Amino acid sequence: MSHVSVRRLLKNFGGKPPTVAVDNLDLEIEDGEFLVLLGPSGCGKTTTLRCLAGLEQPVGGTITLGDQVVFDRERGIDLTPDKRFIGMVFQSYALWPHMSVRKNIAYPLKSRKLKDELRGGRVEETAALVDCERLLDRLPAELSGGQQQRVALARGLVAQPDLVLFDEPLSNLDARLRDQVRAELHDLHQRKPFTAVFVTHDQSEALALGTRMAIMNSGHIVQMGTPRAVFEDPVDEYVAGFTGMSNRLPCEYVDGRWYAHGTEIIGAEPRAAGIRDFVLRLRPEKVRLAIDAADLRPGEAGVAVNVDDVEFGGLHLDVMLSIAAPGARRRELHARVSTFDSSRTPRSVERGARMILAF
Ligand code: ADP
Ligand code: MG
Repeated sequence: MSHVSVRRLLKNFGGKPPTVAVDNLDLEIEDGEFLVLLGPSGCGKTTTLRCLAGLEQPVGGTITLGDQVVFDRERGIDLTPDKRFIGMVFQSYALWPHMSVRKNIAYPLKSRKLKDELRGGRVEETAALVDCERLLDRLPAELSGGQQQRVALARGLVAQPDLVLFDEPLSNLDARLRDQVRAELHDLHQRKPFTAVFVTHDQSEALALGTRMAIMNSGHIVQMGTPRAVFEDPVDEYVAGFTGMSNRLPCEYVDGRWYAHGTEIIGAEPRAAGIRDFVLRLRPEKVRLAIDAADLRPGEAGVAVNVDDVEFGGLHLDVMLSIAAPGARRRELHARVSTFDSSRTPRSVERGARMILAF
């Protein structure tokens, strides 16, 4: 039996016109699983978490936590937040400013009448888990952003709830600290698995942290699987775009040849039965720049492009390109090529050059 089960969850908000924030969402979360919900701003991630926590009343559907039904509209079941054994970690750390770190972490134990745990050293143990045991007697104002977020993490975990919900908890940290806390959170979950739903709009966070990830669009889940499976085999263009296949090349078959924006694709395979046009999605990291058609390798196809701009990125160049055709949109395509592998990157990559985008 799965640990958390959400069936046909529905939530809308009044107003003109009303907003359907969660639209018949189904979700099964296994015990010990770290599920990442990935989607753009406004797709309903926060509302989904708030429904799970009991902070928002759904219009329909059921939510089961372990063997307890916590929400079922038809049976009139709607447990209040304090009756659901759930921990939450928010984007804003939401620590009590007047309480010490120790008291902040201990807070969920108090409200859950887990007083024995207070004496039993649970607070110290959890603080050690997120590496803030030396901060216990400080006030939140005396901590850095990263330290505050660790305290918030400890507070979410201390009661060892059935489920921990994270709402973009890393997005207020600067880039280096974000990577560090992300790595610590990943390590923590590997060492001591707990069941979690982690919401983010950041694909690298989702890929790094999720034991599975679910891609959300307009209130429902469009694809769910291991990060590797979703990354390698996106079900549609929306998911493809969200997992880094940022180049879109609409291809058209005319009189025995393939074209992209009216420019012939060199080396393209003949048409498969029935297919006349489709959109090719390409990762910037997986394409190559060739000097000319003669420089294409066996099995490669390519299309003529103009180099609109080149940005130096240390180990790579970010090359912005447009199809070499009148009226083509500038900087529409992006290649990320190595600066150290000269067998793959010709010296002639520079602004204004005409090259072949190989794929
Ligand atoms: P996300 O967290 O993915 O950015 P939200 O769950 O916050 O998305 O919002 C989903 C949709 O519901 C949005 O269109 C948002 O404007 C709307 N919404 C969220 N909360 C409320 C509210 N309290 N009242 C009215 N509309 C809301
Ligand atoms: Mg949100």
